[in-house]
Amino acid sequence: MKKFIFITGGVLSSVGKGIVTASAAKLLQARGYNVTAIKIDPYLNVDAGTMNPYMHGEVFVTEDGGETDLDLGHYERFLDITLTKKHNITTGQIYQSVIEKERRGEYLGKCVQIIPHITDEIKRRIREVAELSQADVTLVEIGGTVGDIEGLPFLEAVRQMRIEEGFDNTMFIHVALVPILEVTGEQKTKPVQHSVQELRRIGIQPDAIVARCRTPLEPEAKYKIALYGNVPEDAVFTSYNVETIYEVPLILEKQGFGKYIIHRLKLQERQPDLSEWAEFVRRVKTSTRKVKIAMIGKYTKLKDSYISIIEALRHAATELNVRVDFEWVEATYIEEGKIKVENVLSNVNGALILPGFGIRGVEGKIRAIQYLRENKIPMLGICFGMQLAVVEYARNVLGLKGAHTTEVDPHTPHPVIALLEEQKHVTKFGGTMRLGAYAIVLRKGTMAYKLYNSKIIYERHRHRYEVNPQYISMLEEHGLIISGVSKVGGRVEFIELNTSEHPFYLATQAHPEFKSRPMKPSPPYLGFMKAASERLR
Ligand code: GLN
Repeated sequence: MKKFIFITGGVLSSVGKGIVTASAAKLLQARGYNVTAIKIDPYLNVDAGTMNPYMHGEVFVTEDGGETDLDLGHYERFLDITLTKKHNITTGQIYQSVIEKERRGEYLGKCVQIIPHITDEIKRRIREVAELSQADVTLVEIGGTVGDIEGLPFLEAVRQMRIEEGFDNTMFIHVALVPILEVTGEQKTKPVQHSVQELRRIGIQPDAIVARCRTPLEPEAKYKIALYGNVPEDAVFTSYNVETIYEVPLILEKQGFGKYIIHRLKLQERQPDLSEWAEFVRRVKTSTRKVKIAMIGKYTKLKDSYISIIEALRHAATELNVRVDFEWVEATYIEEGKIKVENVLSNVNGALILPGFGIRGVEGKIRAIQYLRENKIPMLGICFGMQLAVVEYARNVLGLKGAHTTEVDPHTPHPVIALLEEQKHVTKFGGTMRLGAYAIVLRKGTMAYKLYNSKIIYERHRHRYEVNPQYISMLEEHGLIISGVSKVGGRVEFIELNTSEHPFYLATQAHPEFKSRPMKPSPPYLGFMKAASERLR
């Protein structure tokens, strides 16, 4: 028996629908149910790969190389499951396949329409994921806000699913913002009421309403939401502000959310086991010692651009009973001389060189890397961070003036980072990104090997350029250790310096943050946080 929970949003976007979805799934998982989660993004992009992280937040990369919405990261971290590119459905994908089908003549001369053809394709994809995941319950989060034109075909599709799958097998949860009026401190429920009305107008009656509010709902506000939302009062919950997002499942469970879902879907109630999760949350909240980490990048204003990295650092910190004190450093400011590298980096415990694309901020990052290397401050470089560490090493240790990545300087005399010969002809077809999980062989005796305690590991990737093989022996002769290479093709995956020379200097072409989980921190992040917390004790 397959069950579906559809999560809609009201009033505003970014109210934490993704966290509520992940939390609802967590409460079912804690009761022994097999769950999976899908994110629907009602935009015309086929995937998130082409979207600017500054506007849209991080592009989350799945094991199979999907470039997806960051909510998939929340699902993977909360549930400790591995999702695929199919778990992120966009309008672009739906239209693309319907139009291709039409061109192949598969609609047999019919007029192709939003209802039923687009909605059929939406339902087909949702069911396909439920099937593939072998899930007892599939949660489907519909991005955007109820009332958006873009979202209508999806809402229509899930409305149809209620009839087709049956009342007991489908549930609608509406998540909406309850603002607090500054002058009176009053919780205002009118926006929620209106967004529920909007839903009901298109034929969806929510079964539960989760109010997103700074504080727990007052009885009066709860009463009003229930009355106008047409649900019983015990179907109204609050996702109020908590110290860590990982606490949300716990506060919702306390309000009876898990039990309510179980009853509503006619599942068998079982004793939830949230003990390890609660213990993790307790440790997040009681770790007091702060470890200051400089985050050096160019989208430092929108923290969502680096959400998996932030979470990976937090998982590692919690394991070590410390907390991360983030110091955001805009690389362009270093470049423009607005800030001095020694002023920002001399009193941090460690620094992370963030991934990125393009020229802006590059020289600032390179300058920071040099400072971290020379002053023996723990450093972790991720993807572009590794590439620029190689550039810095080539320039300042190997003495290769003007060394660069061809991404930034196509005419550099020393292209230490470049497209590989075999990639060059592919460029013409566009599909040049190396995406998803690949096997990496770690070299025995290196720090990377010790951290993973394994010879073969799998990490996810999202990049185009590589360390130029022609410079590898020269880099090694000058002390840079290549501690990991891709199993196929021998591409450089990890670099490091000997621990006798630097307490922690590690960089990787991969994105290990995507596989970090609460209670299972990613090895490079854990090693980095450990080294950072040992500095300036
Ligand atoms: N811009 C670099 C590349 O494409 C690094 C990408 C990244 O940091 N994700 O290779």
